[in-house]
Amino acid sequence: MDDASFEQVCAAVRRFVRERVLPREEEIEETDAIPDDLRAAAAELGLFGYALPEAYGGAGVTVAQDVRLAFEFGYTAPGFRSMFGTNNGIAGQVIARFGSPEQQQAFLPRLASGELIASFALTEPEAGSSPAGLKTSARRDGTDWVLTGSKRFITNAPLAGLFVVFARTGSTADSAAGSGESSSRPGHGISVFAVDADSPGLTVGPRDHKMGQRGAWTAEVHFDDVRVPEGRLVGTEGRGYRSAMTVLARGRLHIAGMCVGSAQRVLDESVRHAAVSRQGGRPIGDYQLVQAMLAESYAELAAGRSLALAAAERYDEGADVAAGPAAAKLYCSEMVARVADRGVQIHGGLGYLRSTVVERMYRDCRLYRLYEGTSEIQKLIIARELLAAQPAR
Ligand SMILES: Cc1cc2nc3c(=O)[nH]c(=O)nc-3n(C[C@H](O)[C@H](O)[C@H](O)COP(=O)(O)OP(=O)(O)OC[C@H]3O[C@@H](n4cnc5c(N)ncnc54)[C@H](O)[C@@H]3O)c2cc1C
Repeated sequence: MDDASFEQVCAAVRRFVRERVLPREEEIEETDAIPDDLRAAAAELGLFGYALPEAYGGAGVTVAQDVRLAFEFGYTAPGFRSMFGTNNGIAGQVIARFGSPEQQQAFLPRLASGELIASFALTEPEAGSSPAGLKTSARRDGTDWVLTGSKRFITNAPLAGLFVVFARTGSTADSAAGSGESSSRPGHGISVFAVDADSPGLTVGPRDHKMGQRGAWTAEVHFDDVRVPEGRLVGTEGRGYRSAMTVLARGRLHIAGMCVGSAQRVLDESVRHAAVSRQGGRPIGDYQLVQAMLAESYAELAAGRSLALAAAERYDEGADVAAGPAAAKLYCSEMVARVADRGVQIHGGLGYLRSTVVERMYRDCRLYRLYEGTSEIQKLIIARELLAAQPAR
């Protein structure tokens, strides 16, 4: 999207978030749901497809623009973003980047309009940080594939009409043999399928009870001999793991942007509180130890914002598609945790009460260090990239 159009879109999103979503945060928290009118308005604004290709009804933003939008989404209850996050992000991008023209035509316009919600189904009980070990299988039966296994923590599963499912179609050695690549590379033999939610044998478990991010729903998804036609294999057989890693790297930049937005909100709330809340006859903001907390949060937030944008620009240029996104997610998710913790501290006892924004954000932000790769996994990715750039050891 050209710069001038994007600035208009970004300003409209900012207005929408601040004028329409912020006043509904308590309602989202209480009901654990995004109100229908907000969902309809978000669809009207094009939020279900801003990162999907323009040819299919999306807005085709760059990754740097995506991060700027995430700054805005992060400013409010993250459940709002989650409603359209998988369509634009990890699930929609698999179809947009690796799907056939037929698959793109079948799914992307409906994803972009919000008519269809897609979930990304990779994680399993013993395959979270190490998804290459996933056990869900897909075996050939005539011209169909038959999927068996279970996934957990799948965002939007209770709402999804489409599941982007990662399943084992061959052993590591089998698939590597045909690919001409080393069989020691992780994830060989994993393929990805676009599976309709109403397929016989597919069941979604009850909604998980989470620490935070109310209004964003996750659940287990079970595949009991789910029959999928050949045309639903996305990309090349045995190469689904690579697709997953590609979209997850992009997603990390978006999450980094969310963290920046949330940190900004906590800082704004904290400054406001420090300016008016009084102790010892003066605003607590007069006390230098409180000032220090505000200053540290401001400096770390500024660093996170710059890092997320710079890493996104390098991703767009193709200069760094692995270490940079991992570093941005690592730093920004740890940064927002520190900012949220200081936000609670600055609010004193009020910061521990359910009625304050900082208390809610403190819980909401905890997830960013866990999903789309834990902080530990981001460190492993960064170190792997650094060492791979060295001459053979
Ligand atoms: C709210 C929520 C939404 C989610 N949405 C989705 C979704 O839409 N789709 C999806 O597929 N998944 C989703 N996930 C799953 C998420 O990506 C995983 O929870 C995450 O990757 C961690 O995996 P795990 O929970 O199995 O933890 P584990 O992998 O068991 O990790 C436990 C601990 O061990 C550490 N650890 C594990 N392996 C290593 C290692 N090799 N080296 C160092 N430390 C290690 C971890 O860093 C962590 O501290 C979601 C999770 C949550 C909580």
